[in-house]
Amino acid sequence: MTRVLLLGGTGDALRIARELRPGDVYSLAGLGKVPDDLPCAVRVGGFGGSEGMARYIEHEGIGLVIDATHPYAAQISANAAQASCSTRVPCWALRRPAWQPQAGDDWRVVNDWSELTDALAPFRRPLFTLGREPLAHLDEIPAHQFWFVRCLDSHPDTTRARILAARGPFTLEGERALFALQGFDVVVSKNSGGSATEAKLEVARDRHLPVVLLRRPQLPAVDREFERVADLLQALHLSD
Ligand code: NAP
Repeated sequence: MTRVLLLGGTGDALRIARELRPGDVYSLAGLGKVPDDLPCAVRVGGFGGSEGMARYIEHEGIGLVIDATHPYAAQISANAAQASCSTRVPCWALRRPAWQPQAGDDWRVVNDWSELTDALAPFRRPLFTLGREPLAHLDEIPAHQFWFVRCLDSHPDTTRARILAARGPFTLEGERALFALQGFDVVVSKNSGGSATEAKLEVARDRHLPVVLLRRPQLPAVDREFERVADLLQALHLSD
């Protein structure tokens, strides 16, 4: 029986983990909640780069690596592809498709934090939904701006920023209420794809708000790529 190493940290990965077997391993970086109700083993923490992962694969007799990490977690995906090459153990990846702009959308794609702050200069009430990175820049908030930062981490509010610790999925009704209450004039996001955090885009469209999107990183080619969890699970069951 092929022993699977599943690299996770996303809702999609958790759905795959629920279908694994006791000999399989679900791996997490250790930043969020560690599930304790899975049929497979769970390991937490980095491997020590691609070489560390390759050693782990060999030592544990792993026969298939599945990369179901977040599309912006580029380092772990690169490590998985590299470790798969050096061990000759196949790597499959769940590559969630990016969101696509629709009629009425005003999307502005930026490459990094510096381009992001330039793009935000004309606005006063940005909603940040791209993780913890804004927390490192709370001292740099321009005088004319007040930030609303929604991320997984708890952090005290400041006089210049409100920080909301929240985990998706977010409903359309909830997003509509939040936007109406807070009066955002721009939304900042990764292009994560998937439905769990997509409602904010619909609300931005309805309210004619621009969305500043951080460009997706390039991810390595692997042996098989899937866009949907169901297709990956089907291939996994067929390959038993
Ligand atoms: P990253 O920059 O690609 O990875 C940084 C390092 O964290 C990796 O080199 C690896 O350490 C360790 N790591 C990451 N994922 C791991 C996993 N599943 N199992 C074991 N070690 C892991 O990743 P990141 O952007 O910081 O994201 C960290 C985790 O959060 C990922 O699992 C990702 O799926 C999840 N996540 C990320 C985002 C995002 O926007 N980036 C959003 C939602 C969830 P070693 O080199 O020591 O092995």
